[in-house]
Amino acid sequence: MPLTGKNTIASEVSAEGAEVFYSIDPRSKTTGDLPFHNATRNEVDRAVVAAVAAFQEIRGYPSSKIADFLTEVAAQIETLGDDLLHTADRETGLGLPRLTGERARTTGQIRAFANLLREGAYLRAIINTEQPGQPAIKQMQFPVGPVAVFAASNFPFAFAVAGGDSASALAAGCPIVVKAHPGHPATSELFAGAINAAVAAKGFPAGTFSLLQGNGIDVGQWLVAHDGIEAVGFTGSLRGGRAIYDAASRRPRPIPVYAEMGSVNPVVITQAALAKRSEEIADGLVASVTMGTGQFCTNPGLILLEDSEATRDFIASVSEKMDAAPTGILLNEAIAAGLQSAVSETAAHAQIEVLAGAEAIADSDFFCYRNTVMQTTAAAIRADDRLQVEHFGPVTLFALCADINDLRATIDALEGNLTSTVHAEEAELESIGDLLHQLREKAGRVIWNGFPTGVAVVHAMQHGGPYPATTAPGTTSVGMNAIYRFMRPIAFQNVPDALLPRALQDANPLGILRLVDDVYTDGAI
Ligand code: NAP
Repeated sequence: MPLTGKNTIASEVSAEGAEVFYSIDPRSKTTGDLPFHNATRNEVDRAVVAAVAAFQEIRGYPSSKIADFLTEVAAQIETLGDDLLHTADRETGLGLPRLTGERARTTGQIRAFANLLREGAYLRAIINTEQPGQPAIKQMQFPVGPVAVFAASNFPFAFAVAGGDSASALAAGCPIVVKAHPGHPATSELFAGAINAAVAAKGFPAGTFSLLQGNGIDVGQWLVAHDGIEAVGFTGSLRGGRAIYDAASRRPRPIPVYAEMGSVNPVVITQAALAKRSEEIADGLVASVTMGTGQFCTNPGLILLEDSEATRDFIASVSEKMDAAPTGILLNEAIAAGLQSAVSETAAHAQIEVLAGAEAIADSDFFCYRNTVMQTTAAAIRADDRLQVEHFGPVTLFALCADINDLRATIDALEGNLTSTVHAEEAELESIGDLLHQLREKAGRVIWNGFPTGVAVVHAMQHGGPYPATTAPGTTSVGMNAIYRFMRPIAFQNVPDALLPRALQDANPLGILRLVDDVYTDGAI
């Protein structure tokens, strides 16, 4: 499919503005030939107005029609073939094996939402029939309306134009306006083609989907401020996510922002675990920290251990392995610069000792940074929040604890995270429980004897956590529950059966599981 470098607004290409940018190959730092047009304020407005109009139609669609559309989106992505993989590889340097896996994850999660819709119980129909002194109350979930999606830099497929936020919003029945990430504009345009093809094939209104290109904050700010947008899905930096959250809150009519902003993902390793599996844990940790050149929001960036000879040996072994591990490619110049600045600031801290890396590689042909290990004390972490900052790359920080009380006090002082992890032995099950549940308070997912990178797309997944990991700790951006960010419950009181959505009608014509007078049933009333 020939690329245009233009925005896609309700199935039409559009390039009103004169400002352009180019995609850059992180392997060679070379600039592509095709100019990509920054969307103008008017184009943002046109996209949202089209989405508002599309919503008037889509909100009446049965779940089965939306499921068919999602299935078509997944099929259209597959028809992009290897062109998609090569384009994304040129723009991100992530490599074909990783991108092939990410494409399968992306189409898999879209199809999983289609299955969820076909099964039907996701509508969460709850019925309390009329009782003496109590009216009939019947509620279910409805789509909120047009959703703004900010694509992430580090997942050009799974958290981007047709990624988890888009799939869950579309599944909810919401049109989407996507702000493409400037790190992969060509990849984004290919995805836009696939979604538009599905829109046409399934007869959806053109405003169901629009793609806005942009390499500055204006496009995103205009989008979030637009009164037609009802919710925002975002994956990226704390600074960006917080700015979008603040912009949404400043609107005359504020809207929810579901921002997933990263995390240091604390890992606690007990002395018993070290005594038994020191080498194995070191290998697993290094693999997890360097996977994808460390550019995962679930990267284990803070490791807490009681100080001992075994601990010091373990840290020395991890540092050696990190030093020996290959230098990976970073996604783009901004990420390389951001990483260098964040590590330099931490390394300059009086309580920090650098054990490996912490320096840029001069004259490299590709965007990169040395694999880095740093060490500090638990007391220093408690004394200075800046030591909890995310280093988005192949970097980890060890914090030595004087004893278990020092460790527990430090866990109390941790900020919100996406994950927390414990490495311990079976023999410690009784003694470790309190600590594990203390860590639970700081994260959305608790991991036992594993590593946080790798997020399974399943119903039970929780990918979220207390601020600053996210702006909405009660929600997830991975797994089927992600759909509820873009739905809201509405209750009907004493409304006649004929006026109710089919999911709430007495005969239960959809045959879905409902909670009727406190009992789950798929029967009629
Ligand atoms: P980012 O800078 O937060 O940008 C993400 C998106 O938000 C981009 O489309 C960006 O637009 C837009 N944006 C940023 N600030 C904005 C603002 N004030 N108003 C409106 N829109 C705004 O994230 P990134 O480019 O992916 O990477 C930068 C850093 O984010 C990384 O170094 C890393 O620290 C962190 N990060 C975290 C995760 C994670 O999973 N938690 C993932 C990726 C990155 P423009 O780029 O066009 O300005």
